Amino acid sequence: MPENKVKKYFSLIEAWAWCEICTEMVNIRVDKEEIKAGLKMGIYTKEHKHLNPYPDPEDVDDVSSQEHTVYIYIDENYDITGVRSFFGDSPSMSDVGGPSVEPGGEVRIPIVVKEVQPMSVQLGMISMEEFKLLKVCDGMNSVGQCAEITQEPVEKIEDMLDKLRKKGLVKVIKRTSE
Ligand SMILES: [Zn+2]
Repeated sequence: MPENKVKKYFSLIEAWAWCEICTEMVNIRVDKEEIKAGLKMGIYTKEHKHLNPYPDPEDVDDVSSQEHTVYIYIDENYDITGVRSFFGDSPSMSDVGGPSVEPGGEVRIPIVVKEVQPMSVQLGMISMEEFKLLKVCDGMNSVGQCAEITQEPVEKIEDMLDKLRKKGLVKVIKRTSE
């Protein structure tokens, strides 16, 4: 899989993110202001609907000519920390965990159970790091993928999830990958 790439300009960035459905790099431009505004709420995700203009005519399994979406997670350095490709409104549970999960392997997926307002951080109820983590606990990311997107070690994510679970803010579901 080619590496995601970002070119940073004065007021915008140009990003190339790997779409697993197109098996091509998808090229997008995003305003830095938009990213900064998004990051104030925790995690910034660029949602980009597209279809592959050059699907492989020889490949009957190539469904990339149908409209689909990439979610591109971008951090405060304007780097890409994660990409999800899917059809429909959100990735199906069977996609969570990514290609690194072996069939039959267990995937743990943290999911927010109670919406937390940014005010909770100012009130000291949770830390900014915990707040950011909650933003990626949207059912689309495994524990490992949460670590990737937030750029934190898995052990730290596990600790934070423990605390958040005790506070009743998050639950971790387990599923076996297909
Ligand atoms: Zn695509």
